[in-house]
Amino acid sequence: MSAEPPLRLLLVEDEPTQLLLMQRLLRRAGYAVETASNGEEALEKISSGRIQMIVTDWDMPGMDGVTLCRRVREAQPQLPGYLYVLLLTGHSSTESLVTGLEAGADDYIRKPPNEAELLARLKAGQRVVRLEQSLREAKDKIQQLSITDPLVGTYNRRYLNDQLIHEVERARRYARPLAAVMADLDFFKKINDQHGHQIGDDVLRGFVDLAKLSIRQSSDWIARYGGEEFVVVLPETDVPGAARTAEKIRSCCATTPFATAAGGLVVTASFGVAALEAGGSIASAAESLLRQADGALYRSKHEGRNRVTIAGGPKPDRHS
Ligand SMILES: [Mg+2]
Repeated sequence: MSAEPPLRLLLVEDEPTQLLLMQRLLRRAGYAVETASNGEEALEKISSGRIQMIVTDWDMPGMDGVTLCRRVREAQPQLPGYLYVLLLTGHSSTESLVTGLEAGADDYIRKPPNEAELLARLKAGQRVVRLEQSLREAKDKIQQLSITDPLVGTYNRRYLNDQLIHEVERARRYARPLAAVMADLDFFKKINDQHGHQIGDDVLRGFVDLAKLSIRQSSDWIARYGGEEFVVVLPETDVPGAARTAEKIRSCCATTPFATAAGGLVVTASFGVAALEAGGSIASAAESLLRQADGALYRSKHEGRNRVTIAGGPKPDRHS
């Protein structure tokens, strides 16, 4: 099984001697074997999500192997990965084999199984399990890449747009506060012009590292909004709380030189803080939250940079 971890296999068999024999055989073949003596017990163990393959007897008291196959396929959407099922059967008619396969078995083997054949069939099953696993991992990786900013490793704007909607929904549903901080590095263009884009990139990454130290890892998150502009989303946070976080990042930024290939560079940043307002549709509330944070950020820039500005009150009628 090369360097990969052993496959976690569930052996379901009601006859104790047969169970013991097969368990030994499968363990020797390198599988991490768990056992169950009937369908109900098997389903219970499967629900943990850690089982990757099942070898099940057909005839068992209570839930039989064919019913177990059906139940496994019903449960499949809730399981983390594909569950491969090999059915052991004393029923040798074509009709019953068809029944077993249609119930959801991937393969079958007649009882008593020939050891070499059983292991060979399981090996074929393993290939299916590993293939499905690698496809799933590739899909997760692509999914992760599609929401990540490639330069600084934060979430990107696409994620911000989608996820902010969910945050607004959640905040509304549970009547909880939600705040956003918009941050923009001051005179960033000068850094790129003076030192080149690689140094500029170092500064962006340095800013993200520093901002991450000031937020709650469990709930707050950062997205790159554009060039040198970032949004920090703070669930369960009111305006004073968000302003404290912004101030923490600001003062840290102003006092800590960023380590770059051109040496330590002090770069300041400006901030705008806003909170979710009541009323309006979810989409318009999310949009308004960003717009207000952006407006407050604009005021920070206008009033001298390197500062935190809070968007005006819960009912702003400032539209300029
Ligand atoms: Mg049996």
